Amino acid sequence: MNQKFFVRKKPAVSYRGIHLDLKGLPPSSGRLLSLVSLLREARINCLLVEWEDMYPWSSYPFLRNETAYTRKTVECFLEKARQAGIEVIPLVQSFGHLENVLSRKPFRKLREIPSLVSDLCPSRPAAQEVILNLVKDILETHGSLKYFHLGGDEVWSFGRCRSCRKKVAQSGKAALYLAHLEPIFHFLDQQGIRPIIWDDMVRDWPGAKLKTLAHQTDLMCWNYAADPFQRLKRDTLERFVKAGCRLWAASAFKGADGPYADRPNLPVRLANMAAWVQQASEMKMVGVIATGWSRYNTFVSPCESLEVSLDSLVLSAKIAWEGKVPDQPASWAEKFLGFCQRKGLPVKSFFPCRLAAENLQCCREKVFQEVKSYLHQAHLVGEPERINPFRIKQAKQILKDSLEKVEKLAREWQKSHQGQVPAIWLEKYFLSRTEPVRRLVDFILAAH
Ligand SMILES: [Zn+2]
Repeated sequence: MNQKFFVRKKPAVSYRGIHLDLKGLPPSSGRLLSLVSLLREARINCLLVEWEDMYPWSSYPFLRNETAYTRKTVECFLEKARQAGIEVIPLVQSFGHLENVLSRKPFRKLREIPSLVSDLCPSRPAAQEVILNLVKDILETHGSLKYFHLGGDEVWSFGRCRSCRKKVAQSGKAALYLAHLEPIFHFLDQQGIRPIIWDDMVRDWPGAKLKTLAHQTDLMCWNYAADPFQRLKRDTLERFVKAGCRLWAASAFKGADGPYADRPNLPVRLANMAAWVQQASEMKMVGVIATGWSRYNTFVSPCESLEVSLDSLVLSAKIAWEGKVPDQPASWAEKFLGFCQRKGLPVKSFFPCRLAAENLQCCREKVFQEVKSYLHQAHLVGEPERINPFRIKQAKQILKDSLEKVEKLAREWQKSHQGQVPAIWLEKYFLSRTEPVRRLVDFILAAH
C-alpha cells in the first residue's frame, strides 16, 4: 500500500495535474501507455496533454511527425487514463506557439509577420477555421471532455500586421484577442466543454474585458521561478478573481531550468510547486498542473527528458497532495520510486537515465569552462611574453579529452533511454548535446 507515502486524508488541491508535452523526446507508444499506472500511484488525477506533432491528425495529416502515435494508441491511452480516474485535458495551440502548423507551406500565409513562425494572424480569413479543425480532430478521439486548453500564450508579434494594427487602433488589443478566440470558445461551449487559456496575454487587460473573458474561459496562471510571485504579481491574480475568472495554476516539474538542461533543478522545481499549491489553496483555484516542457519552443533542441525527471514529477504530485514539500524530498522520491519499482510499475529506467543525464550535464558545463580558461591563457594580448606554451598545449589536450568524454556520456544517456523514446529522437538528442561542443572545440583548436 502506498499510504505510508501520503499523509493527508484529503488532498490540498482537487485537480492535481501533470502536463505531457509531446513535442520533444516523445515517449514510445509502450512507454506512453505504461506511464498511466505510475501517475495513478502518485495520486495524479489530471493530465494536460499537448499532442503536437505526435497526434495522428486526420484534418491535416502532414502535421504528424515520423513517429506519431496511431489512433489506436491514443484511444488506448485515453481509456487507460479513464480507468485510472485521470481526467485528460487536451491542449491545442490557437494563437502563439503554432510553429508546427505555421512552418508548413499551406499555412505560411497565416503568420502574423512572415519572419516569425510561431504566431497566427487573427485577421486572416482561414485562421479560425484551421484552429477549429484541429480542435475537432482532437475531439474525435477524446470522447467526453470537461476542459479543453487552447494555449493562447506568448503571441510575440500580436497585433503587428497592417490589418491587426488597424483593429487594435480602433478597438484595442483585448478586443482583437477576443474576436479570434470567441468563436472557438463558443464552439467548445456548445459541446459542454469549458475552455482554458494561459493567462500571460491578458494580465494587463482592463477589468471590463476580463469580465467578458471570465464568462467564456478559465485562466491558467503560470510562472516557473522558485518564487513565482516575483514577476507575476499577486495583485494580477486578485484582479482576475475580482473579474470573476476561474483560475488554475501552472508550475513546472521539468523544462524550466534552461533550454539545454539535461536534468531539472530539483530545489527550484519543488519551491515553485509548493508556492503555487499554497496560492491555489488560498485562492480556491480549480487545480494545479505541473508542466513538463520538452522544448522551450518547437524550434529549439529538446530539454531534459521525462525519464530523468520522474523524481521531480512524483514530488510535484506529493506536494499537490500534502500542500508542502516533504522533509528530505530527494530521499522521499527515491523511496517512493523504489516502492513503485518493487510493485512492478515502470520506473526502473529512471535511475540509470538520471545518472547518465547528471554526468552529461556536468561534463558539458565543464567543457564550456575549459574553453573559457583556454581563451584566457592563450590571449594575453597586452602581455604576449606571458603566454606559456606548455600550459596552452596542456589546455588543448584537456579540451580534446573532454570532447571525447561528452560524446561517450551522451551515448550512455542514449543507451539508458532505449525503448522509452523512439530511436530517432534519441539520436537527435545525442547530436544536440555533442555537436555544439564538438564544433566549439574544433573551432578553438583550429583557430589558435
Ligand atoms: Zn494580423
